[in-house]
Amino acid sequence: KGDPRLQAISEAIRVVPHFPKQGIMFQDITTLLLDHKAFKDTVDIFVDRYRDMDISVVAGVEARGFMFGPSIALAIGAKFVPLRKPRKLPGKVISEEYELEYGTDCLEMHVGAVQPGERALVIDDLVATGGTLSAAIKLLERVEAEVVECACVIGLPEVKGQCRLNGKPLYILVEPR
Ligand code: AMP
Repeated sequence: KGDPRLQAISEAIRVVPHFPKQGIMFQDITTLLLDHKAFKDTVDIFVDRYRDMDISVVAGVEARGFMFGPSIALAIGAKFVPLRKPRKLPGKVISEEYELEYGTDCLEMHVGAVQPGERALVIDDLVATGGTLSAAIKLLERVEAEVVECACVIGLPEVKGQCRLNGKPLYILVEPR
C-alpha cells in the first residue's frame, strides 16, 4: 500500500468525536467529497482495481455507498443497484436483517435487479463489525449472484482479517485516523 494518494484521501476524511453519540469517532466522508482530487483518486483506485474483473453489478449500501458506487459502476461498465433501508424501495423486495450494537437493522434489494450468475461488487464508505456488508452479501447470494469482493473507503484495522464477511474478500483504502 505505498500509493501516495492514500494519505491525502485519509486526511480529507473529517473525524467527528462523539457523533452521533458519546464514544463514537465518526468518520465523515462528506469532506472527502468536497476535495475534488481526493474524491476522484478514491473512485479511480476502485475503478483501476475492478475494471477488468468482469463485474456487472455494483451494489451500494444506503446511504454513503450511494456516494461512491454509481461513479464506479459507470466507469467499469456495470449497473448500480441500491441496497436500501426498509420501506424505501417501491417494488417487490427481499430483506435481510442484521444485528447492531443495540437492536437490529435491515437492508432491502429489488427483486429482478440482479440476475443469477451476475458478478457483483458491494460498496460502502466504512466497515466496522462487517454486519452491514454481511447482510449485503446475503441479499446478493439469495438471488444467486457471485459477490466478487466488498470495498470500503475506510476499514477498522481489526476487520482487515475479515470478520462476518461470509468468506468474501474485503478491500479497504485507509484506516480511521
Ligand atoms: P458495521 O455494520 O458494524 O460494519 O458498520 C458499518 C456501517 O455503519 C456503515 O454503513 C458505516 O457507514 C456506519 N458506521 C459505523 N461506524 C462508523 C463510524 N465510526 N463513522 C462513520 N460511519 C460508521
